[in-house]
Amino acid sequence: MDIKSAKFVISNSDVKKCPESNLPEYAFIGRSNVGKSSLINMLTKRKSLAKTSGRPGKTQLINHFLINQEWHLVDLPGYGYARVSKKEKKTFQKFITDYFKNRKQLVSAFILVDSRHEPQKIDLEFMQWLGEHMIPFAIIFTKVDKLKPNALERNIEDYQKKLLETWASVPPYFVTSSSKEIGRDELLNYIEEINNS
Ligand code: GDP
Repeated sequence: MDIKSAKFVISNSDVKKCPESNLPEYAFIGRSNVGKSSLINMLTKRKSLAKTSGRPGKTQLINHFLINQEWHLVDLPGYGYARVSKKEKKTFQKFITDYFKNRKQLVSAFILVDSRHEPQKIDLEFMQWLGEHMIPFAIIFTKVDKLKPNALERNIEDYQKKLLETWASVPPYFVTSSSKEIGRDELLNYIEEINNS
């Protein structure tokens, strides 16, 4: 898929205020600092469409971007950082879970995980929650330029093993590097194929 246009539409913390159109949408979410903003900018070839996080957790909003007038890319807040208060965490969880439970236009979520790390509890719990709510998702292993192919393979296998402890099959996955522009075509083609099906 060529990216012909990528425009910011709206930010909010209420699923009811998300765009009313019926365009298919894909939501990107992961731990703070996982490389989500860099990935979105790499995918859209825009330098600062998504704001790379100077201070993790600052922007706690659902951000909609319109791509090629055809689909919405949704940038969701990062999770799992220490500096946010308990109250903020609760509010955060509520609007994110509301988004996932109620957003009919959502075709798939992409859960970003740092390819260098072993499976993290918070990510596994989130995937578990999505699975229980029948929300389709794929995994994106980010920053693959930072590790050797063997280590990457091992980390991916570890993830799959963990998921297979509870599920009968594993979700699709992608490997990406925003600095080396790895995985861009694969991800965009995946989205295009679903949109055309
Ligand atoms: P976010 O908090 O998930 O939006 O993460 P950012 O996109 O702001 O990235 C967090 C940090 O990781 C920044 O210092 C980025 O430069 C770095 N980073 C992001 N993606 C990559 C990548 O693919 N490779 C490498 N080496 N660094 C990356």
